[in-house]
Amino acid sequence: MLVHDTVDTGRSQAEIDQIRRSLQARYDELSAEYEQAVVQSQVLRLVEIGDTAGDDQADSGTKTAERDTAQSLLRTILDRRAQYEHALTRLEEGTYGFCEGCTAPIPVERLEIFPSATTCVTCKQNRERRAA
Ligand SMILES: [Zn+2]
Repeated sequence: MLVHDTVDTGRSQAEIDQIRRSLQARYDELSAEYEQAVVQSQVLRLVEIGDTAGDDQADSGTKTAERDTAQSLLRTILDRRAQYEHALTRLEEGTYGFCEGCTAPIPVERLEIFPSATTCVTCKQNRERRAA
């Protein structure tokens, strides 16, 4: 087993435990949301299969839109959950709270609003600009 050098994050074990609990709680919430969204999208699909006869075009358009919304909701939840999972991993590694881009500490206020943030605002904006 590898023993990592402990990175000095200036956090006490109690603080780390608290952060872990809140990240884990959010992760669990998102898992539950995901389960629910999956069920809903399955219901939607069943309704669609059972109810395609005699649809006019407007109707099937609405259903397509509903399905797209359900699909993008599922993706959004999964993305967010992955962010929390990533944040938890970084917490274990001792790099949580430090920007993945420039390694500067992420302001506490930002972490309070976005506990899953792994970059500072500047690096986030740079990434988004590159992605665009
Ligand atoms: Zn940064």
